[in-house]
Amino acid sequence: MTTTRFAPSPTGYIHVGNLRTALMNYLIARKAGGTFILRIDDTDPERSKEEYVDAIKQDLEWLGLHWDRAERQSDRLDRYAEAADKLREMGRFYEAFETPTELDLKRKKQLNMGKPPVYDRAALNLSDAEKEALRAERGNGVWRFKLDHQRIEWNDGILGDISIDAASVSDPVLIRGDGQVLYTIASVVDDTEMGVTDVVRGSDHVTNTATQIQIIEALGGTCPRFAHHSLLTGPQGEALSKRLGTLALRDLREQGVQPMALLSLMARLGSSDPVELRSDMAELIDGFDIGRFGAAPTKFDVQDLFPLTAKHLQSLPLADVADAVADAGVPTELAEPFWAMARENITTLADLKGWWELCRDGAEPLIADEDREFIAEAVVLLPEGPFDGETWGQWTSAVKEATGRKGKGLFMPLRKALTGMERGPEMAALLPLLQVIRARG
Ligand code: GLU
Repeated sequence: MTTTRFAPSPTGYIHVGNLRTALMNYLIARKAGGTFILRIDDTDPERSKEEYVDAIKQDLEWLGLHWDRAERQSDRLDRYAEAADKLREMGRFYEAFETPTELDLKRKKQLNMGKPPVYDRAALNLSDAEKEALRAERGNGVWRFKLDHQRIEWNDGILGDISIDAASVSDPVLIRGDGQVLYTIASVVDDTEMGVTDVVRGSDHVTNTATQIQIIEALGGTCPRFAHHSLLTGPQGEALSKRLGTLALRDLREQGVQPMALLSLMARLGSSDPVELRSDMAELIDGFDIGRFGAAPTKFDVQDLFPLTAKHLQSLPLADVADAVADAGVPTELAEPFWAMARENITTLADLKGWWELCRDGAEPLIADEDREFIAEAVVLLPEGPFDGETWGQWTSAVKEATGRKGKGLFMPLRKALTGMERGPEMAALLPLLQVIRARG
C-alpha cells in the first residue's frame, strides 16, 4: 500500500518550502488511497521544541492536510540503537575521533590540492589501543557508516535517472559523540519499519538519499521510490532560504491567505500544469501528478496568493464565512446581503471590517462643487424605505428624469457622495446596507 510521510524537525515554524514537501506527500498518499504519516524528527533534544510540534500540527490542520498516523523519533531511539548495532556487527560502522577543527583543516587541504573534500577514512586505520587512547583524551568518537565505493543509482520521480559515485561522498556520521542519533539513520529505520513506499523531499537531500540507499540495503530493507523537488526561489530567482523565516504558514494565515489558495498554488507551482484555483481537496488530489514537476528552481511570489485568495472568497457562501462576517461587526440580519455585496470587493476577510464601517457610519462625502446642486436634488428624491435591491434603480431613474443627467455624470457623483470613493461595490447592493441612509429612508 502506498505510504508517504512528512517528516519535519520541530525546530521552527513550517514555511512554504516545507508545505511543498508536505503537500506532495499528502497528495500522493491520498491519490493512491494510501497512508500519510506525520513523523516528527526530534532526535535533537536541544533544538526540538514542543511548541513547534504543536504549531506544525495546527498548521497542517488549518490546511486540511490530515495525517493517518503520527510518529515521533524520540519514542523510537531503541530501534535506532538496534540498527546501529547491526551495522557495527557487519563492519559497516566505525568510530572516528577528529575534532571539527581537524576535519575543517583536512577539507581545506583537499580543496587546495584540487581534490573533493571527502572524509579520508583515517579512523579506519586506528588500532584498538589508539582508539582507547583517543577515547580517554577526547571522549567517545562519532560513528560513521562505511559506504561501499561504487555508484549509487536510482530513478528519481522528478529528477530522472541519478547516479552518484559513493567515493565522492564522505562516510556519513550517524551517531554523534554524545550518543545522539542523527536523522540519516533514524529516517532510514523509520521509512523501512513504517513501510514508507514513496519519499518526496527537497533536492537538498539528494546526497542524503545516496547514502541512505546504501544504509537501507545494508539493513536489509527495501528502498522507497524517491523524488526530489526543486527548491523555491524568490520571484527574481533569488535564494529564498534566508527569507523562509518570514514565509511561515502562520504568517500567511495572519495575512489572511486562505488555505485553498495556498494549496492550489503549491500543488502546481514548478509543474508543467497551470496554477488553477481548486475548490476542494478532492479536486487537488485529482489534478496532482508528481511526474509533471521539473528540476529547475521554482519561483515563488507570495503576492500570487492574494488574487487566489480573493477568487476563492468570491466563491464562498455565507455559511463558510459567517464567523468572519460576525467578527467584522455585521448584525446577523444583514449578514446575507452584506456578504453578497462585500465578497466581490475584498482580497482577504480582513477587508470586511472596512466595508462594514462604511455601511454603518457612512463615508465623508466626496462632492465636487459643480455637483452640489445635483446632489441636493437627488437627496430629496430618495425613495421611502425600506430599501432593497431595486431601490438604487428606482432612485437613479427618478434623478435622471428630474435632472436630465445620465451615464457616468449621473452615477459617479452619487457614488462619490455616498461612499467617498470612485470605485467600489455595486451600488444597488450597497445602498440597502448604508445604515445612515436607511435610517433616513
Ligand atoms: N527532518 C528532515 C527535514 O526536515 C526530513 C527529511 C526527509 O524527508 O527525509 O529535512
